[in-house]
Amino acid sequence: MRLLLHSCCAPCSAAIVEHLLENAVDTTVFFSNSNIYPQDEYLHRRAELERHLQVLGVPFVEDDYDHSDWLVSVKGLEQEPERGSRCTQCFRFRLLRAARYAADHGFTHLGTTLASSRWKNIDQVNAAGQWAVEQVASLSVPLIFLDRNWRKGGLQERRNQLLRQYGFYNQQYCGCEFSMRA
Ligand code: SF4
Repeated sequence: MRLLLHSCCAPCSAAIVEHLLENAVDTTVFFSNSNIYPQDEYLHRRAELERHLQVLGVPFVEDDYDHSDWLVSVKGLEQEPERGSRCTQCFRFRLLRAARYAADHGFTHLGTTLASSRWKNIDQVNAAGQWAVEQVASLSVPLIFLDRNWRKGGLQERRNQLLRQYGFYNQQYCGCEFSMRA
């Protein structure tokens, strides 16, 4: 397995990355989060994750940040509640970019940390991930979406332990400007 792990932030990723390292999974972390607003917040979350991965020696790839493009993709859905159709589109936007990168760079599996938070709907995230890999499907080299429940097997508790241990910046809203009011 060569896994491209789409990651949203350090708090959601630390326990998952630790688990993957313990199981010797060949993992590269992909930061594709054009949903995050404002850009300073984006840079803060990215820096926190990159710093942690450097210590662990895990490869880190940053996607382009294009919040304007993301806004176009969710146009008309601005007033939707969290876990609604704007979030479905947001997950699809980011995971499709990750799937394209994975397919172009020889990865066999795609995963995401998006559902590690209890604020997220696992089924909604996993459906978006499955949809994304289907968009880049090739009969010769299929990309497989890893639809694990990253809250099970003690990972939820470990997430909280690592958050305290490393003192990660723990953001107070999901990411986009529409989630600031929630
Ligand atoms: S609330 Fe979060 S998941 Fe939903 S659209 Fe905004 S950034 Fe994306």
